[in-house]
Amino acid sequence: MRKEHTQKVSMITRRKTETIEQTLKSHRPVAVQSVAADPKKVRITPLGGQDGIGEKNMIVIEYGDDAIILDCGFELGIELPGINYAIPVTEYLNTIKHKIRGYVISHGHMDHIGGLVHVVPQFPAPIYGSQFTIGMVDAQFEKNQDNRFQPDTRVVQMDKHERVTLGSFIVELVRVTHAIPESSAIVVDTPIGRLINTGDFRLDPEPLDAMPSDSARLKELGDEGVLLLMSESTNTTKLGRTPTEHTLQDSFYELVGKTKGRLIIAVFSTNMNRVQMIVNAAAHNGRKVILDGRSMVTVAELAVKLGNLKIPKGVLVPMREVNNIADDQVIIICTGGQGEPGAALSRMAAGTHRAIALKMGDAVVISSTPIPGNEIRYSAIGDYLARMNVTQYRHPTHEIDGSGPLHVSGHGSRDEHREMIQLTQPDFLMPIYGGSLPRKYHKDIGLAAGIAEQNIIMTDNGGYVELDGTRITSSGLVTAGSILVDQTGAVVPEIVTKDRMLLMDDGFMVVVLTVEHTGRLLTSPDILTRGHIAVKENSEMLNGLRDVIRKLVQKRNKLSSRASIDLLKNDLRAAVSDYIYMRTSLAPMVIPVVNVIGPRGQTNQLPRPVADVH
Ligand SMILES: [Zn+2]
Repeated sequence: MRKEHTQKVSMITRRKTETIEQTLKSHRPVAVQSVAADPKKVRITPLGGQDGIGEKNMIVIEYGDDAIILDCGFELGIELPGINYAIPVTEYLNTIKHKIRGYVISHGHMDHIGGLVHVVPQFPAPIYGSQFTIGMVDAQFEKNQDNRFQPDTRVVQMDKHERVTLGSFIVELVRVTHAIPESSAIVVDTPIGRLINTGDFRLDPEPLDAMPSDSARLKELGDEGVLLLMSESTNTTKLGRTPTEHTLQDSFYELVGKTKGRLIIAVFSTNMNRVQMIVNAAAHNGRKVILDGRSMVTVAELAVKLGNLKIPKGVLVPMREVNNIADDQVIIICTGGQGEPGAALSRMAAGTHRAIALKMGDAVVISSTPIPGNEIRYSAIGDYLARMNVTQYRHPTHEIDGSGPLHVSGHGSRDEHREMIQLTQPDFLMPIYGGSLPRKYHKDIGLAAGIAEQNIIMTDNGGYVELDGTRITSSGLVTAGSILVDQTGAVVPEIVTKDRMLLMDDGFMVVVLTVEHTGRLLTSPDILTRGHIAVKENSEMLNGLRDVIRKLVQKRNKLSSRASIDLLKNDLRAAVSDYIYMRTSLAPMVIPVVNVIGPRGQTNQLPRPVADVH
């Protein structure tokens, strides 16, 4: 009978462990012994970005004795306890450390720059990017106060087509439109031919900042000859073109004009064109603007300093003024449109915002659609706001809500991908920055644009490809995977994450025994538990457990050696798990603590924990 239950306990523990294993496996690095690159070929190794929605983007380019790294991002939205984000495993860089000539960054989104504070101090080299991108990179290192590392950051003038020599590579940035100022494609001229990494892009002819993608330069580069185009894959399932950003300006003018109460508008913290539109509409209607959300204020300050965001004098006011301004005179631009916990709009919706209590008459505008994975939070925030009786304008329901469109994607759709291929006329195409499915759709676009199937290369994280000027081959693997990082920026070992996951469902129980070296129990066993059962309501069951423990200890002889204590601990773990499972069908983590009082009164574990009740 007892055996049967013990088997059940171990079965349930095993099942739990298996589920946890499966979850962690998708993040765990796959260790591979790497082979040195052929010095006559260009080797391209994505260490991140080729899964999910294209996060922790990072691609290594090698030729001979030189290597450069394109983008170095992190991945947010890791649904593991206590994990803030993941960065790529960079073990492979140890083998090419001496060759790294620089990091070249396409734009300032965190999925392209968030890994730098972790990776660059280990593998130091200058970081190159447009002026705004470098501003974002510098801000990351400044924010990271524990990190005394001073990065060597260098601005590349993209509109002057500045060319920078990095070992045997010549690098140039080409302006592209995206959802953050000064995004760029990265051109890498190698001794065997030209490579282009598009970064994130769309080919909007009318972006609000009047800084469209530099299609003329892309065409020029294409006419000179492009060996390989590495092109982002986010919206490869969307037909046609992504609507021009310009269309949104009218929606904001109209909304600001017709709203009588306060306007609270949630935007992505880095989308300065969107902030600019709202500022323009506010100034036009004589409203003041308040920026809310630390990340947005930081980015806006940088954008104002560099001239990417223009705010007329007197329009911007600090949050502390919010209650001194009439409702129809103010717009609050905030973060949290995705329902991110802790962001400004989430705090308003939860009634915990330090300055803003939402009320009837307020209008909340959500200027975004949910990022894949955020759908539940996105609709939850709508529910909260609906309960507060505020008027809502959300992009997905804008026609019903009575407004014009409130969001356009920062990524190009299928026709723009085709156009990118036509402009650059590459010999080879490598879909990047997306999971297998969006990259497969990208391959289809390439085929339809006339690129031969053998010239389109598909590769996952860690899978490197090699180019010799006439052929591209998928050649092998290097170690790739994720390193998990917590809120403080510290790396979390897998064993810690695994324990957190085990604790999440059934909690833990600590059993503390004080035993004489002869094996005699000196006090009643102390039982501490959290996240498992309420102690008060289960005192009878816990007294029964104490009896079980007493009997188990009484059977022992001397506890004179470490081995005999370990054996007792193992038996305790099994007996307690068994007893608890029979009564609660739960399998908490059981931690036995045994204090043995020696012949002269010394203990093996001090101090003895006090009994715990709650
Ligand atoms: Zn981006």
